[in-house]
Amino acid sequence: MSEPVVVALDVGGTGMKCALVRPDGTVHHEERHPTLAARGPEAVTENILAVAEGLAARARADGLTPVAAGIAVPGVVDEVNGIAVWSANVGFRDVPLRDLTTQRLGLPAALGHDVRVGALAEARLGAGRGRRHVLFVAIGTGIAGGLVVDGAGYPGAHGAAGEIGHIVIRPGGRECGCGLRGCLEAEASAKAIGRRYAELSGDPDATAFDVASRAAQNEELAGRIWQDAVEALAQGLLTAQALYDVGVVVLGGGLAEAGDNLLLPVREAVTQGVTFHRTPEIVRAELGDTAGCLGSALLALDHLGTR
Ligand SMILES: [Zn+2]
Repeated sequence: MSEPVVVALDVGGTGMKCALVRPDGTVHHEERHPTLAARGPEAVTENILAVAEGLAARARADGLTPVAAGIAVPGVVDEVNGIAVWSANVGFRDVPLRDLTTQRLGLPAALGHDVRVGALAEARLGAGRGRRHVLFVAIGTGIAGGLVVDGAGYPGAHGAAGEIGHIVIRPGGRECGCGLRGCLEAEASAKAIGRRYAELSGDPDATAFDVASRAAQNEELAGRIWQDAVEALAQGLLTAQALYDVGVVVLGGGLAEAGDNLLLPVREAVTQGVTFHRTPEIVRAELGDTAGCLGSALLALDHLGTR
């Protein structure tokens, strides 16, 4: 058999990152496509299958053998049964995406949750390489996480382990999309930080990244909002550490682009807040927005048993 590759797709609300990935995690070929979410879930599903089929054909044309397909999607995902259960931004409602992919491509397939497979990739190929207990936290519009132990994702009994965005850190605090108040996500996501600054400063276009930069330049309001978010984040990480006792926390998502403006104060706040637990190392993600795509390939390979 010629060199094996995995057809890998990471489906987001607006775009799909797609690749042919070798078993060692290196990329043979990359493509990006629009998701076309506005056309509805059936059109999105057809789009995913057509792109996956095109990638498999591309692999064969390049003299490679596609051996499996891995697809990552946002929202609620039933990884065991390969079903995209629910997604706000893609519109999925109980789409049996794994079986549809297998039927269309004639290949074994795996379906994963975008952040949890991103965690898998960061733990095995990125900032968590060589570490046994890794918590990946993606901070963007929301806050999501994934726990990886000895190179395998820990999904929990219902696929919801690592959802640290909905740990209540400030009871009675800001309203969260989940219906509770004071969730970590409502207090410290990039969206929450940007919104609070916009409310208080009157600058509707400021992003969380701007808040971080302005805080670093000693702007008083930005500094106050940033420090507040850092403390909220540290609180959430301390709770996660009490539960998981990881060796390293990998911070990813849009907010991680703030770099040391985020890492240094979060490390300090976590270190100060630790009592008898051991402080985890806190580092920045390395794979950027390719983590989901690489992770979906790893998941497919794991399902093949070729790890
Ligand atoms: Zn919540």
